Amino acid sequence: MNHPENDKEYKGLQVNSGVAQPPSVNPYMRPLRRKPVPSVSEIVEGVLKGDMTMLSRAVTLVESLLPEHYAKAQEVIEKCLPYSGKSRRIGITGVPGAGKSTSIDVFGLHVLSRGGKLAVLAIDPSSERTNGSILGDKTRMERLSVHPNAFIRPSPSAGSLGGVARKTRETVVLCEAAGFDNIFIETVGVGQSETAVHSMVDFFLLIQLAGTGDELQGIKRGIMEMADGIVINKADGDNIQRAQLAQAQFRSALHLFPPTASGWQPEVLTYSGYFELGIPEVWDMIDRYFAFVEANGYFETRRRQQARYWMRETIDEQLRSHFYRDPAIARMLEQLENRVLENRLSSFTAASEALDSYFNRFK
Ligand code: GDP
Repeated sequence: MNHPENDKEYKGLQVNSGVAQPPSVNPYMRPLRRKPVPSVSEIVEGVLKGDMTMLSRAVTLVESLLPEHYAKAQEVIEKCLPYSGKSRRIGITGVPGAGKSTSIDVFGLHVLSRGGKLAVLAIDPSSERTNGSILGDKTRMERLSVHPNAFIRPSPSAGSLGGVARKTRETVVLCEAAGFDNIFIETVGVGQSETAVHSMVDFFLLIQLAGTGDELQGIKRGIMEMADGIVINKADGDNIQRAQLAQAQFRSALHLFPPTASGWQPEVLTYSGYFELGIPEVWDMIDRYFAFVEANGYFETRRRQQARYWMRETIDEQLRSHFYRDPAIARMLEQLENRVLENRLSSFTAASEALDSYFNRFK
């Protein structure tokens, strides 16, 4: 070719053949050894032995969104079920800043000082929006998180409240099978999630604050009605009097509520999570509650009602997700929605069209 570089007389810069470039894949790299996926019986065996790593894996399986994990998780739960049920399930709620994490840390240590094991779970349906779970985060419970007999698990993050709650409920089964005899389920006292927590615990504890001026307005009446015990936190320093005043107000407010199904009169106590004042008293109340409902049979009644409730809830959730996950239905819904938005179709007709097309398949 006629090019100056090809000329024999060329004196300019020349391109050397250079050093061979290394291959883009390191030939010396050892193949990544993936942890073998344990079988259902390996997981169950590990859980029953109280192996925390296996328990974690089982919970991860329960929380997984993959359909193949769902079936496996159900098998694990089914096998753990006969070993579950023997724990005190305690729900803890309170508005953000009420001192839930501080209190759970101290309550937890108090419970553990009496022996046994404690699992702290959470239901936080908002965690999907905030992109990560706030509740049950280990860093919030400094001492519990390093305690060998504590298992802390943040809220399952993805999905509807129903889905998140179901996963937490299944996690309770796994924890109980692993020998956890105390289970705390934490939630934020701002909305729907209390009902979900209430429907899976034996005792529902509401953490309140004094001195905010809206003692009774700050929390929805419905949540107060669910509470088996109300504890007013931060009863320390110059807040003690205000806490006592709030205590009196809550006590008189509770008297106006209809009697509880358990026959138990919810108590109101003050304490300080931060300064660890009044903690044994709070736990005495909880002990008294358990003695009371175990004696009058309400403990069993409530558990049975909850089992039925969760069967129905699971059916609801599965039906709904089967419907919405269907690609043909999803396409159809999009079209129907457009017609509804353009006022060409009523919401009800649209809904029945979609449902008819779904149900027709099973005919
Ligand atoms: P959460 O949002 O409900 O989990 O509340 P935190 O446990 O994070 O507590 C919120 C704030 O209240 C933190 O700054 C705590 O240090 C403080 N706090 C918690 N418990 C007490 C208490 O018993 N007394 C006082 N004075 N402050 C507390």
